[in-house]
Amino acid sequence: MGMIQALRGTRDILPEEVAYWQWMEAIARDRLNRAAFREIRTPIFEQTDLFERGIGEATDVVGKEMYTFVDRGDRSITLRPENTAGVVRAYIEHSLFAQGGVQRLWYCGPMFRYERPQAGRQRQFHQLGAEVFGSRDPRADAEVIAVAIDLLQTLGLKTLRLSVNSVGTLSDRQHYRSALVDYFTQYQDELDADSRDRLARNPLRILDSKDERTQTISQAAPSILDYLADDSKHHFEQVQQYLNDLGIVHTIDPRLVRGLDYYTHTAFEVISDDLGAQSTVCGGGRYDGLVAQLGGQDTAAVGWAMGLERLMILLQGLHSTPATDLDFYLVSKGDRAEPQALKLAHQLRQLGFSVELDLSGSAFGKQLKRADRSGAIACLVLGDAEADQQQVNLKWLKTGTQESIAQSDIPTLADSWRQEVGRQGGRVKAEDEAR
Ligand code: ATP
Ligand code: MG
Repeated sequence: MGMIQALRGTRDILPEEVAYWQWMEAIARDRLNRAAFREIRTPIFEQTDLFERGIGEATDVVGKEMYTFVDRGDRSITLRPENTAGVVRAYIEHSLFAQGGVQRLWYCGPMFRYERPQAGRQRQFHQLGAEVFGSRDPRADAEVIAVAIDLLQTLGLKTLRLSVNSVGTLSDRQHYRSALVDYFTQYQDELDADSRDRLARNPLRILDSKDERTQTISQAAPSILDYLADDSKHHFEQVQQYLNDLGIVHTIDPRLVRGLDYYTHTAFEVISDDLGAQSTVCGGGRYDGLVAQLGGQDTAAVGWAMGLERLMILLQGLHSTPATDLDFYLVSKGDRAEPQALKLAHQLRQLGFSVELDLSGSAFGKQLKRADRSGAIACLVLGDAEADQQQVNLKWLKTGTQESIAQSDIPTLADSWRQEVGRQGGRVKAEDEAR
């Protein structure tokens, strides 16, 4: 029988890498909290209909990338390829608008798209996203962009580029759309097959074709910015002004578009030059038409989604593995020592320390070597001789100092140990900082 392996386009995230993920997630949670975003967790599968209506049938995602299946109750189900549609569904279903004012929500979790796997492109991947409901104010656009940039900078990513554009309103785009069709029709035979296909269905998407020849042709295509009505122009100018006020460097890219009817005004992307072909880390924009499109009341909305695998590629190039956060490594050998060690580990955990109990049963020497490699701040050693006297040996691994301690003194000593562990960079300190 062959070995069963993870499916193509999926990956195991092993404990060492999880340390990065947790670090990134903690920073994300903190930065989003600071901006008054609240987390929402929606199911990873939904009715297929939600995505067909919520993402649009003319998109690649719905047209070719969805994991759709019929369940045992004969319903068409889809693993979520993104989460804006799910969040909007929840917003409507639970009448979050009834809470009044502006709702700021964020999510984080796995998404599924049937794509050709390559660096930065998987079939199960993770997105962190933020959505703001209930404000047409261009400050909302600037605020969500600022939160994304602040988060990326806090993670240490300083060389990213922000592109912004406006796709105007549906009526702005109707004029633009026909100008685009006229323009691209002249070059019909030179376009890539996908783009030829889009000419009739979704001509705006030709502008983000990855085909080189098509890109060259797109260079001279009409610019959406020339088709914006005064209100749309004004909105876009205000967004840019606010970004400038916030000191957020950006460039205007008139070819940055979203092809669907419910997208309005702002579209933006954060791009890294260190990611090769899969260079977009974060994409977002305003979608004032989507809530109504999915059956809710007319509600303005703006948001973004970040691809966490791409972020992770960048972070691993920048930071070394976050240190393990082990305070004590507990070594024991002997019939009487081993049961005591189990209790001692439990007691120390209740006092707030992280403790790894060596369960190998190996000789002392081997266990002590493992203690050295564990990254723990201190090692506790318990043999039968110590056990008989209710004692334990403590060795501070970084300084080498050792002492023999009565086990009954541990509750009294815990405070000074916490300070010492904290001074030496252990977990206890990290907890204090978090408070
Ligand atoms: P791309 O042009 O790279 O296919 P997209 O326009 O399909 O991106 P969005 O739907 O806007 O991407 O999703 C937001 C972000 O999610 C992307 O910028 C990217 O970082 C990430 N992402 C999208 N698809 C994948 C995938 N298959 N694997 C890993 N990350 C992805
Ligand atoms: Mg894609």
